[in-house]
Amino acid sequence: MFKLFDMEDENKFSWKSLGDIEKGRKNLGTDIPVFVYRLFQFTLRDELIKQFGNEKTIEIFRKAGKLAGTEFSNNILDLTLPFDEFFAHLQKILEDNNIGILRIEKFDLITGSIILTVSEDVDCSGLPITGETVCNYDEGFLAGILEAYTKKEYIITEIDCWATGSRVCRFIGNVIIKNEE
Ligand SMILES: [Zn+2]
Repeated sequence: MFKLFDMEDENKFSWKSLGDIEKGRKNLGTDIPVFVYRLFQFTLRDELIKQFGNEKTIEIFRKAGKLAGTEFSNNILDLTLPFDEFFAHLQKILEDNNIGILRIEKFDLITGSIILTVSEDVDCSGLPITGETVCNYDEGFLAGILEAYTKKEYIITEIDCWATGSRVCRFIGNVIIKNEE
């Protein structure tokens, strides 16, 4: 299965890497404007594309997003809640932290297939329309959350995005079926 925790590696990201933000920013506080977040993300993306190309950059963003989703789930979310309560809880936390407004359009209890939308997404809402979905970090982030909750491996693909002219980001998620060896 997926290996997200490699405790021997001290350079590996963990929730503790974020530090004590409240303690460190007594006057400035814990929030920053969205443009600062995007400035960091999009300049990093620009440099990664220059060095590694578009495809590799997308893969890096998905993997980083997944690690974020896993750590976020294990440190912030209550993974013991039943499905409906869990999603209400997740929606509230995403909204309270100004990440986006999450909705479930469809969930198949048997297959685990899911369609989610995020409006006012922190990554893309208001971007120029380029015709391409850009929320690869979110694809990974949502996969990390679903995996942490369901203990099944997910592949999440964004099919609509502000950058494709949609008002919401829409993500399709499917459980990865693995053949037993
Ligand atoms: Zn998007």
